[in-house]
Amino acid sequence: MRVKLLGYEIDTFTFDGATEYALELEKEDKVSQVVTINPEMFDCAKIDKEFAQILNEAEMVIPDGVGVKIGLKILGHNVDRIAGVDFARKMIELSAKNNLPVALIGAKPEVVQLAAENLKNEVENLNIAYVQDGYFKDDERVLDELKNSGARLILVALGSPKQEKFIKQAKSVLPFGLMVGVGGSFDVWSGTVERAPEIYQKLGIEWLYRTVKQPERFKRIFPTLPLFVLRVFKEKFCGDK
Ligand code: UDP
Repeated sequence: MRVKLLGYEIDTFTFDGATEYALELEKEDKVSQVVTINPEMFDCAKIDKEFAQILNEAEMVIPDGVGVKIGLKILGHNVDRIAGVDFARKMIELSAKNNLPVALIGAKPEVVQLAAENLKNEVENLNIAYVQDGYFKDDERVLDELKNSGARLILVALGSPKQEKFIKQAKSVLPFGLMVGVGGSFDVWSGTVERAPEIYQKLGIEWLYRTVKQPERFKRIFPTLPLFVLRVFKEKFCGDK
């Protein structure tokens, strides 16, 4: 089921439902885009029409940030938050089980290499068909190499909205592939960045842990999160976007 939040359709899958549906898309002979959405991305879409269109056209939009879960709750929808990093990791396992090749694009060269090595050690039967760091200039070269790799799961970690725009470009060039913007996931899988302890993940306050560890992130969360919640209340009571 899809529900509307601030003018955008959000998918309300359970975690397993989302990965099962995404695996079906991965097997299809077309490119599908998964956006893992957070409150900052709604702000971005307000001023960036191209990004807004990408959100409207994505095959799956899943609620990543706890802010989106709160926003949907205010509108009366009780949905599971699906952390992009967990979703992407599960898709890697499902791809390995189904003999579907995987591509990793993004992050610093040593980070993406380490992430690929760790994943190969951890996931049996994993076929990583393409690895590319995120600091390339020639999009055409990367898209060409990606096409030749035959990858079916393509994880793109360039930060938002860069990764979503790269995926949009790829959609018009590649014959197939499930493409997911995964933000800082390669940093986590490489061991470069530590994930918040499970208790923070369970309570949905990973952002608090990350902010304490990296105080410069404070600027990214405030005032974004409270303003986002205010916008949702406005939508609820005034029907405004
Ligand atoms: N990145 C990249 N190319 C760029 C800018 C960023 O590959 O031109 C990578 C960066 O190294 C990091 C990821 O994109 O691995 C973005 O992480 P961030 O934590 O900012 O993502 P978000 O908070 O959006 O999930």
